[in-house]
Amino acid sequence: EALVCLQDVGKIYPNGTVAVQNANLLAGEGEFLCFVGPSGCGKSTIFNMIAGLTGHTSGSLSVMGTTPKEARKRSEMAFVFQEHTLLPWASLIDNVTMPLTLAGVPKKERKAEGERVLELVGLKDYAKVLPRQLSGGMKMRVSIARALISNPKLLLMDEPFGALDEITRQTLQDELLNIWHQNKKMTVLFITHNVFEAAFLSTRVVVMTPRPGKISDIVDVPFPFP
Ligand code: ADP
Ligand code: ADP
Repeated sequence: EALVCLQDVGKIYPNGTVAVQNANLLAGEGEFLCFVGPSGCGKSTIFNMIAGLTGHTSGSLSVMGTTPKEARKRSEMAFVFQEHTLLPWASLIDNVTMPLTLAGVPKKERKAEGERVLELVGLKDYAKVLPRQLSGGMKMRVSIARALISNPKLLLMDEPFGALDEITRQTLQDELLNIWHQNKKMTVLFITHNVFEAAFLSTRVVVMTPRPGKISDIVDVPFPFP
């Protein structure tokens, strides 16, 4: 049973822009799937549809056996974006446990889980620190920790390392792979325009190619990595 299933999915924005057309994709448990393609080919749109943040306008789309909007409510799906979305006035532990706070999880349990995920990203000594005291790479680690706190089955990452310098990017790629290797049941969908990053990280690469003035095709390319 596929975790994410797109059948002939299309998206036309209200202003008439055809962002995605006839997209077909199956993502199974434990896949690390990278989406590559030039800017404007519809990568973020596909993600936002899977995430339940925007609707599709044709075809059918299911996530973990239900609609994306329903899947999102179940907190089995987590997101990481390029711009960190940390609360500036909250400590790292408060930031990473925010999803649990919103879900009404008791404080003691939140603290233990917060410490667990901060350790996963190498920030266990920074629990009380505020985000502004951190470098870009460290802020990204906090965003990843927050996404992991509810043990998601599906992790969606939209150009997470796009704003980082090359060295930091490579370090975070290694760290992300380590985390994924510790929990191989987690499915990761990762957007990047960097083919090297895609080849390094993924078990499978989805190449999205724009046709001039038109639409995008999705082609699954089996890669001999890693
Ligand atoms: P990518 O992530 O690959 O850069 P996007 O999914 O962001 O591609 O965009 C695909 C196309 O849809 C682009 O032509 C973009 O300008 C357009 N688009 C994206 N979001 C919207 C929106 N909210 N309204 C109208 N057009 C949009
Ligand atoms: P990305 O970096 O993922 O390609 P963009 O910079 O293209 O994203 O878009 C940033 C935001 O602007 C997104 O929320 C997207 O939906 C929206 N957007 C992009 N293109 C358009 C457009 N042509 N009209 C309206 N909104 C757009």
